[in-house]
Amino acid sequence: MAELHERHRQLLEKATMNRKLSPATIRSYRGGWKRFRQWLASEYPGADPFEADADTVAAFVVDLVHGATLSDGTELKPSTPATAVQRIVAINHYRRERGLPPFKRGEGTIAEALHTVRRAAPPTKQAKALRRTDLETICDMLEHRTRCGRVDRRNRAGNILYTDWPHEPDARCRFRNPTPDAVSSALAMKAYVRVSFGALLRVSECVALRWRDVKPHPEEKGWGEVHIRRSKTDQYGEGAVRSVEPEVMDALRAWKRRSRTARPKDYVFPWRRPGNYTRRLKLAARDAGLADPEGYSSHSLRIGRAVELAAAGASVFEIMSAGRWKDPAIAERYCQQADRARADAALRRL
Ligand SMILES: [Zn+2]
Repeated sequence: MAELHERHRQLLEKATMNRKLSPATIRSYRGGWKRFRQWLASEYPGADPFEADADTVAAFVVDLVHGATLSDGTELKPSTPATAVQRIVAINHYRRERGLPPFKRGEGTIAEALHTVRRAAPPTKQAKALRRTDLETICDMLEHRTRCGRVDRRNRAGNILYTDWPHEPDARCRFRNPTPDAVSSALAMKAYVRVSFGALLRVSECVALRWRDVKPHPEEKGWGEVHIRRSKTDQYGEGAVRSVEPEVMDALRAWKRRSRTARPKDYVFPWRRPGNYTRRLKLAARDAGLADPEGYSSHSLRIGRAVELAAAGASVFEIMSAGRWKDPAIAERYCQQADRARADAALRRL
């Protein structure tokens, strides 16, 4: 009976602990714990994960960052030191649930292992900000793609007599971009770059955006409102509303007219995987003739707008609010980036 009582107490404690955690955090803990158990089973068959000591966890950290092949053939791809830290946090979560003391990251062999892998890891690459002028260049290219096409002149039998080329074909043209439906793709892409830049959307928020989340602005004619239902920094799902300029609404409307899925509950964008957005943005930057197209990622639109706001004199707090950042240090970074760009322009001019 006493034993059962103890078990109930533990279950209750576990439930209270989990209730305070966001679903993303719980997923991260589960994933981290699973990885650790998998690694341990390969390195020390039969070992109890709760009896692992700090040296074992330190070895796990090194394998995580450098990558390893486990005895069951699973490939551990090299991860960042930050991910390794998350794994330790996950292990500690499960230890606490069992009433075991957590591992300290700042002490002993674990600290040494983290120090070593941090020094060896390349600095984390930051996405390049896509500034307003580059955004307009990309939108012009996409616009061109929807209009420009060759015209085949045919005789009555339907055979091509000759082809009219509107101009010397280049990378902007549809017939140089052989996708099944280049016009739809260009319209969707234009809507994506406009709205992600306009409302500082994260790629996950673009993936989750539905047509019912886009509405005309109640006061400003031509403007719109984008409802961001759920985001990384908004665990309770209160959502946020951001005004977007008429160009954003025009691009969304043009895409909506063409889209086959435009009911209120339908997703605005056809791409379900975040990686698709980055890949398409790189391609669009390349076709638009921007320098270093590989430097862009889906994050470039969001931070590009932040840098643009900073350059226009917005405060750190205004930028934080616009982009729904909780950490002023992030917004501060974009202010500094805008300052650097301004200083650089001044140096070239004066
Ligand atoms: Zn063309």
